[in-house]
Amino acid sequence: MTEVSELALPEFNFDNTFARTLEPFFVSWKAAEAQSPRLLQFNQELANELGLDASALNTETGAAIFSGNEVPNGSMPLAQVYAGHQFGGFSPQLGDGRALLLGEVIDSNGRRRDIQLKGSGKTPFSRGGDGKAALGPVLREYLIGEAMHALGIPTTRALAAVTTGEEVYRETVLPGAVLTRVASSHIRVGTFQYFAARQDTDNVKTLADYCIERHYPQIKDDDNPYLAFFDAVADVQSALVAKWMGVGFIHGVMNTDNMTISGETIDYGPCAFMDAYSPKTVFSSIDTQGRYAFGNQPSILVWNLARLAETLIPLIDPDTDQSVNILTERVSAIPATHESYWLSEMAKKLGIQTAIPEDDALIRDFLTLLNEDSVDFTLGFRTLSDVLRKNKKEAEALYKNTKALDEWINRWMGRLKENKDSPEQIADVMDQINPIYIPRNHMVEAALTAAVDATDMTPFSKLLSVITKPYNQVEGASDYTLPAPKSDIPYRTFCGT
Ligand code: AMP
Ligand code: MG
Repeated sequence: MTEVSELALPEFNFDNTFARTLEPFFVSWKAAEAQSPRLLQFNQELANELGLDASALNTETGAAIFSGNEVPNGSMPLAQVYAGHQFGGFSPQLGDGRALLLGEVIDSNGRRRDIQLKGSGKTPFSRGGDGKAALGPVLREYLIGEAMHALGIPTTRALAAVTTGEEVYRETVLPGAVLTRVASSHIRVGTFQYFAARQDTDNVKTLADYCIERHYPQIKDDDNPYLAFFDAVADVQSALVAKWMGVGFIHGVMNTDNMTISGETIDYGPCAFMDAYSPKTVFSSIDTQGRYAFGNQPSILVWNLARLAETLIPLIDPDTDQSVNILTERVSAIPATHESYWLSEMAKKLGIQTAIPEDDALIRDFLTLLNEDSVDFTLGFRTLSDVLRKNKKEAEALYKNTKALDEWINRWMGRLKENKDSPEQIADVMDQINPIYIPRNHMVEAALTAAVDATDMTPFSKLLSVITKPYNQVEGASDYTLPAPKSDIPYRTFCGT
């Protein structure tokens, strides 16, 4: 271990409301000692946003803190308990099996943010797991989370990646690592399920009150704050999944323990961005039934929120039947809420600022074209702005059936005539909505392989710099825009746990 104990550690200004108010929801715990921690990646910009001393942390001291070897002042590391439906089956006891919450800080925008270590060793919730994380999945979560943030999608973020100097045993022996991630909180649908499954209504209420105070203070004085709470979570999650659908993101493990109360994307495991458009796309090797396929995400959203609704039944109305009726009605309203977010998200991708119901058919017909010709989702949208600039070549090259494309373009141009902006102006706006760079699967794999097999972080750094500025074409980055060369072997992602 590095000799930093005698040095003053940088200040974090923790204010740990979770630890102070939710005692039954965690155990205080200590990270496993890392042999020789090394800071591999550090997010300076995020550190600044969190009010941390970035230069003091971008050092061995940072490696010691972000491996869990040193506990900064005011931190009270803890493992949170939760339950969850995993691929439809209920696990009454999950919890942080390899993560520790260091604490909460108030960032420079006045927002409360959790700082959590992931891969910091066994906890009482490890259930036979080793509590560790391998470097590949840690860097993967780092990359994809930062890409999502750059795409304007609510998400946990990566503050640091540290290698521990230890080996982790998976199918092969891999370098161990710890990810430090930042979230607006780590409370999940599964946190509610843990207490509801034990008929512990008092704790469900305590948790709901805490979440309202922390995430939705505006509904505190509502006539029925718990119902308003449900609606608020349903709303942010409906919007979130619409944003995923807008960039071709497949979460891969939409279990209820991986769905936040805050509306942020969390737990990047076997996730991936779709290349050729098909709603049936699945990348995760463990999702054999395609439960979490791209096109199923909106219905899983509703399914998961129905599980949240069940936990709130005792809080909504003293009459259980009445409670169930009210919540059932609210759950039935979610598809329409999600679709309206989706419509507005997708319409913007087509340069339509204010969507009308008729745009639904225009969008769906475009998606049908992409599907029929297995067109790359990202490029399919991105090349439309060039069509508006009177250059159809690049768009047309993506399709077999260019006649169908032309017919659709005519309809679309007709719709855009209602906009007072010129086609060129609309195209410029679209270029700030339809990314040119996404973390393409083969580029992510190449970056992780170089980092893990050859300790070469160059491809990772280059990829990170490209995908965190996803809208503006940069010189020398054309490789990053292209889909993977055609392969007979479908791309597979692994959980990496
Ligand atoms: P995930 O699939 O990553 O969302 O994890 C589901 C559950 O398994 C959570 O409770 C994790 O804390 C736990 N878990 C995942 N990997 C490990 C591991 N290597 N050791 C212990 N617990 C783990
Ligand atoms: Mg999880």
